[in-house]
Amino acid sequence: MAVSPEQEHPKKAFGWAARDSSGVLSPFRFSRRATGENDVTFKVLYCGICHTDLHMVKNEWGLSTYPLIPGHEIVGVVTQVGSKVEKLKVGDHVGVGYMIGACQSCDSCSNNAENYCPEMIPTSGAKYHDGTTTYGGYSDIMVANEHFVVRVPDNLPLHGAAPLLCAGVTTYSPLRYFGLDKPGMHVGVVGVGGLGHVAVKFAKAMGVKVTVISTSPNKKAEAIENLGADSFLVSRDDGPMKAAMGTMDGIIDTVSAVHPLLPLIGLLKNNGKLVLVGAPEKPLELPVFPLLMGRKIMAGSVVGGMKETQEMIDFAGKHNITANVEVIPVDYVNTAMERLIKTDVKYRFVIDIANTLKSSS
Ligand code: NAP
Ligand code: ZN
Repeated sequence: MAVSPEQEHPKKAFGWAARDSSGVLSPFRFSRRATGENDVTFKVLYCGICHTDLHMVKNEWGLSTYPLIPGHEIVGVVTQVGSKVEKLKVGDHVGVGYMIGACQSCDSCSNNAENYCPEMIPTSGAKYHDGTTTYGGYSDIMVANEHFVVRVPDNLPLHGAAPLLCAGVTTYSPLRYFGLDKPGMHVGVVGVGGLGHVAVKFAKAMGVKVTVISTSPNKKAEAIENLGADSFLVSRDDGPMKAAMGTMDGIIDTVSAVHPLLPLIGLLKNNGKLVLVGAPEKPLELPVFPLLMGRKIMAGSVVGGMKETQEMIDFAGKHNITANVEVIPVDYVNTAMERLIKTDVKYRFVIDIANTLKSSS
């Protein structure tokens, strides 16, 4: 019988995988490829739990194959580099985000937008160029082409930096691309979860006035005092929502579930931009008239290119931006997923891989 590429891979690896759409994760042995000439191998120290991991382990988008090791907010320390690797060396602090491959020749790739390459390869639950399954960061080691690895600034604590690899760049990128990064602008951030809370920090560091729009009144004090938001709206409070109508240049919507767009469109000034980054499993209803009447723009955005990811994390280093995290042992991961469903986390779970992932567990 032919040996599968997985079995041919020489590096023994260990992680936690979901086996079916129950989403329950459990220990899983697998292997990773040898360090190729352009590859970086690193010991994983921390991995964030993005809501995308939850969508994926439960197959909410209908894209999942099992076994599935999630995790695309991965940081660690380099243990080996290939002979042609130029920008990284053993001992460096590095990170890998949502993607680990792309064609590197199409228009998007040529314009530093590998995230929009039709052949972009996600870090978890996809097929790599060699036909093998990609396994994410709930695991002990990673091997990736250096192009898809970023250097983490030395001043950032790694547990707080891990979520920047996805949540960070997913919110930094649309703020920059859609020009919502100009001092004095007013930007709304919808949903104070993993993405939303770092969106507030980035927008504030850019000099933008930020209003949070949330379903959770109990997040108000912290959003203002800790995250630095200028004001806070509870999306179900009609009075304050009406008073804020027509005041925002743009909105970054991070909500993971189906929710009404009409109140958000109403918050925009004429020519304002509503950018969706949250990825609900079902379509949202789009009220067209309120868009027409103010020449408003609706858009989507997915993570960021590699150049931009490095730029984002360097910006975070300069402004001391990290995520607010709850560090957990790997055997807490199923409980963490349950709590994430209830939005019971401030604001990102991060798995302490190095100290708690043991191949005997
Ligand atoms: P998260 O930590 O669970 O945060 C989502 C937030 O949305 C919650 O904290 C909650 O904030 C709000 N929310 C949840 N259910 C809601 C509902 N039914 N109605 C209104 N608001 C609700 O998730 P995340 O990790 O930030 O990810 C958010 C979404 O972005 C997910 O769908 C994820 O797959 C997607 N994502 C997209 C990209 C991309 O590149 N586009 C990258 C990463 C993640 P409040 O309590 O403040 O209301
Ligand atoms: Zn993510």
